[in-house]
Amino acid sequence: MRDQYDVIVIGGGPAGVTASGLLSKWGRSVLLLEKEKFPRYHIGESLVTGMMPVIEELGAAQILEELGAIRKYAISLIWGSHPDPWTVRFDEVSPFPYAYQVKRAEFDSLLLAHTRRLGTTVIEEANVREALFEGDRCTGVRYSRSDDVIDVHAPFIIDASGQAKLMARRFDAVGWHSDLKNLAAWTYFQGGSRYDGQEAGNILVENRPPGWLWLIPFSDNTCSVGFVAPSKDFTASGLKPAAVLYQSIDESREVKRLLTGAVEVSQVRTAKDWSYTCERMSGPGFIQAGDAAAFIDPLFSTGVMLAMRSASAAARAANDILDEPDSEASIRQSYEDGYRSFLDVVISFVRFFYDPSKEVWDYFERARELVDPTEQLKAREDFIVLISGLVAMHPIMDYVPAAPVAVPPSG
Ligand SMILES: Cc1cc2nc3c(=O)[nH]c(=O)nc-3n(C[C@H](O)[C@H](O)[C@H](O)COP(=O)(O)OP(=O)(O)OC[C@H]3O[C@@H](n4cnc5c(N)ncnc54)[C@H](O)[C@@H]3O)c2cc1C
Repeated sequence: MRDQYDVIVIGGGPAGVTASGLLSKWGRSVLLLEKEKFPRYHIGESLVTGMMPVIEELGAAQILEELGAIRKYAISLIWGSHPDPWTVRFDEVSPFPYAYQVKRAEFDSLLLAHTRRLGTTVIEEANVREALFEGDRCTGVRYSRSDDVIDVHAPFIIDASGQAKLMARRFDAVGWHSDLKNLAAWTYFQGGSRYDGQEAGNILVENRPPGWLWLIPFSDNTCSVGFVAPSKDFTASGLKPAAVLYQSIDESREVKRLLTGAVEVSQVRTAKDWSYTCERMSGPGFIQAGDAAAFIDPLFSTGVMLAMRSASAAARAANDILDEPDSEASIRQSYEDGYRSFLDVVISFVRFFYDPSKEVWDYFERARELVDPTEQLKAREDFIVLISGLVAMHPIMDYVPAAPVAVPPSG
């Protein structure tokens, strides 16, 4: 086994496979180390169209069809002062008319196999224990596998270790968003009903004070149903998280209706759902991508999109740094600036949206202020562009040859 590569990627989730896949495609030697044996369970099942340009660049579009995943054409919401459900469709503005609802165990496994096909050396059950440094420069990692402890080296490391946040924890650089300290509890049901026709794959997001419910339908007639609320409200209820989830479902309007006749087929799972942006997202010899750099509340299902888009930018940065080592500092800074400004827009909108007392129009207007101040689109379209993750990012992120945001004539 060789011990030197161009790039080492830590983690085989959506961020890791994106970074490794693109770098392998561009002819770099890449080692990806993943702690688990795939397929492994993971939350994060509802995708948005902002990830589709990256899927295309990876040449992985057929994977989503192979999965037989249900297409997600739209998002249905019960949110705002108006009590009725409302729906926005991706094809109202996006060049990508649909995304997918996926079981992550299958989705992530197929992507891992894809990066292998692109030339990445993938080692599963390889637990990265620490990053290796010479002075302040990261030069490799130490991982354990079975009883072996192995050192490998590369001029550049990409940390895609998800919420393990290997590098951010090492540098004590996790910046928590204290107003978004939520807890999520979720489970799976079989049966119930779906919306009609193309709407059958819609995610439903229903406001249920002090939090909100999601219902994500899958192609096998099961669905994922979860409740997200401030951790302190879960605690204050005096109930177990599972009881809070069941009570929220019972008090809901649309989720309860769609679950009529459905049977629970899983145990309730819970996760700490605290948003953070790392205060540093790179250093000499390394860059963080995906949840290893930042995690934003799942309200708009942006996690996988952010993971893939940040990882593609990180891959591009790593590739440029290998070509021009003298420009490393400015390339890394460009990556951080671009990603941070995109995250700032998304998080600012999540904060605004968390006030469910507004008119739907207020949400559209706020989206316009954030992403389209010159009013090229209708405000409703700005909202869709924003929650799709198709906002044009900083030039280093905006690499997709086909412009990610189609701008139709205004009016
Ligand atoms: C309650 C909840 C609901 C969510 N819902 C959605 C949703 O509907 N849609 C959406 O897009 N996102 C959602 N997300 C977010 C989504 O789960 C993540 O943003 C996404 O998985 C990030 O991808 P990643 O590749 O950065 O990290 P991950 O997918 O977590 O992958 C990281 C990988 O690194 C591996 N790893 C960790 N440590 C090590 C180590 N030391 N050595 C080697 N490997 C290691 C892990 O095993 C893992 O496979 C949700 C999150 C939560 C908490």
